[in-house]
Amino acid sequence: MSVYLDYNASTPIDPRVLDVMIEVYRNDPGNADSRTHDFGEQARKVTENARKQIAELLGVTPEEVFFTSGSTESNNIVIQGLKDYAESTGKKHIITTAIEHKSVLNTVKYMESQGFDVDYVSPDLSGRVSAEDVLSRVREDTLLVSIMHVNNETGTIQPVKEIGDALADKDVFFHVDATQSCSKLVDQIRDLHYDMLSMSAHKFRGPQGIGALILRRRNCKLPPVKNVYFGGQQEHGLRPGTTPVALVAGMGKACKLAQAEYKEEAIENKAIRDEMLNLLKKEGVRYELNGDPQYCIDSTLNICFDGVSSEALMLSTKQYCAISNGSACTSRSYDPSYVLAAMGIPVEKIESSVRISWGSGVNKRNILDNFKKMLSVIISLAI
Ligand code: PMP
Repeated sequence: MSVYLDYNASTPIDPRVLDVMIEVYRNDPGNADSRTHDFGEQARKVTENARKQIAELLGVTPEEVFFTSGSTESNNIVIQGLKDYAESTGKKHIITTAIEHKSVLNTVKYMESQGFDVDYVSPDLSGRVSAEDVLSRVREDTLLVSIMHVNNETGTIQPVKEIGDALADKDVFFHVDATQSCSKLVDQIRDLHYDMLSMSAHKFRGPQGIGALILRRRNCKLPPVKNVYFGGQQEHGLRPGTTPVALVAGMGKACKLAQAEYKEEAIENKAIRDEMLNLLKKEGVRYELNGDPQYCIDSTLNICFDGVSSEALMLSTKQYCAISNGSACTSRSYDPSYVLAAMGIPVEKIESSVRISWGSGVNKRNILDNFKKMLSVIISLAI
């Protein structure tokens, strides 16, 4: 049976998370905003407990945590929600990178159509943008700098610490898309200066369809992000709509588990990565890694197999490993990866590149056995 190695697209739900959610679905039918009965009160208790669990993982206060449906929505709210503030201050310049997720790139593109000026910083061949390059573009009218922590295709860690430190005393908001890092680079995130942060529960063994936007106070004030659609007062009006209590409880539990287990998981992820790299060498496959390994998270490999089409590779090895050649949000229609292209990788190499990503909940022996079988097929394809 094929082993699931596409964790950067979505992760299998942890059974302990599922148990919590089933309990809520069974026992807590209330709406967390109902004030007139105990069921509402109980639902509220569940959501506030989850908010606390998320806050504890990230080292923020529960009042700084706002539930959303996931990072796409968080990214949209952060960027579009600053529009009124931008109009009133005349600060209409945004800095981001060319390798952000589409939920950032397409939102800033929309902002461009609304009269904003956007700088897209490109990475070098290592997959990283330079902090100096980002900071050198800050102007009087810069509203927002939005940079991902870890790239979903290459696993490359971006210099958000340096950027955040430099912006901490500037009148510029700093948003970090931490979708791929919030359960893994926990110590780094707790030590970051940022104003807003996006996360999605399904990237760390929580349920799909729930996430959070973290808005941090600066000088006691929350960033002036406004709701982008209208409804009730849920999440202080920032994200109206009935709170999905079971999803929220699942996300809280996933955060709690991540907090207890991230160190152990990092060791396990690194061991898998090291063994995969050993196998790549031992089996004599021709390959190159995309992105500089010294800056890559230990749970992602983006590999170019010289002379092998990634589409043919995935088709002929799918009985062994479920992998991808780009982010799931773009891979339905195959276009050569814009992330690898922005790094300056030639198109023929991009077309031979695949992403392999993993995490807890899969048997390590199983991963490596299937990975080895996949490599033997790749060798036959390369001849
Ligand atoms: N940002 C990054 C870096 C991601 O990897 C993803 C998911 N692939 C998103 C944002 C969007 O997350 P979601 O699909 O859960 O809204």
